[in-house]
Amino acid sequence: MKYIGAHVSASGGVELAPVNAHQIGATAFALFTKNQRQWVSKPLTEESIAKFKANCEQYGFRPEFILPHDSYLINLGHPEEEALMKSRAAFVDEMQRCEQLGLKLLNFHPGSHLKQISVEESLALVAESINIALEQTTGVTAVIENTAGQGSNLGHEFWHLKYIIDRVTDKSRVGVCLDTCHTFTAGYDLLSDYDGVFNAFAEVVGFEYLRGMHINDSKKELGSRVDRHDSIGKGFLGFPFFERLMKDERFDNMPLILETIDETLWAEEIAWLKEQAQ
Ligand SMILES: [Zn+2]
Ligand SMILES: [Zn+2]
Repeated sequence: MKYIGAHVSASGGVELAPVNAHQIGATAFALFTKNQRQWVSKPLTEESIAKFKANCEQYGFRPEFILPHDSYLINLGHPEEEALMKSRAAFVDEMQRCEQLGLKLLNFHPGSHLKQISVEESLALVAESINIALEQTTGVTAVIENTAGQGSNLGHEFWHLKYIIDRVTDKSRVGVCLDTCHTFTAGYDLLSDYDGVFNAFAEVVGFEYLRGMHINDSKKELGSRVDRHDSIGKGFLGFPFFERLMKDERFDNMPLILETIDETLWAEEIAWLKEQAQ
């Protein structure tokens, strides 16, 4: 079965995210558990945690289908010691928030080498950062998202994901999230070589590591290395691609999350995607 939702607002409290997701007909959702543009946020209150769990229960959202996203400020592959430590501390805090909320996944972008160290060196730092966070938490899987490869961002080639996974000690708590827009603009031709792209993913990384997907159309063309999402059917990927994806059983039983640009269309987009999955 397909579990489809969107990255919904948690402003006013994390407990509102499941309510917002329910209102758009979602069966999965993503959220930020803290302000994504600040380093430090207040700890979650007992009341907020209890309400979040109660609302998830009420609307039928199981932790397996909730894909929290970490702060955009975090760079787990940062070449400078002090900044790396700051990112690692913030990432542990993010993992602990997920733990408190009873969540099982934390989605994050691997990081950037900032042209100061090699890709491999930076990827190794990301893996070390994951190991540190996993040692300090239980039950939460670190879910690495592939990226469009803007600037010096890591994670736009499948082997980057594999390189990190290979260096993570607890393989049961590391996974991957594929973003359709990022995959396409990173240079993987989902339009004319759908099978080739996912065969390459299967070979290099393996579907056993796939924990979720971000379902976005793209405003930019194949290989542009630019991260600009579009509404479903309005970008370069188009409706037929998403129809095919929804019929593909390899994407069953994991959160499929819209991060499309017009949230007033989310309910409609979710309904359309669900229909294709029938
Ligand atoms: Zn994404
Ligand atoms: Zn993106």
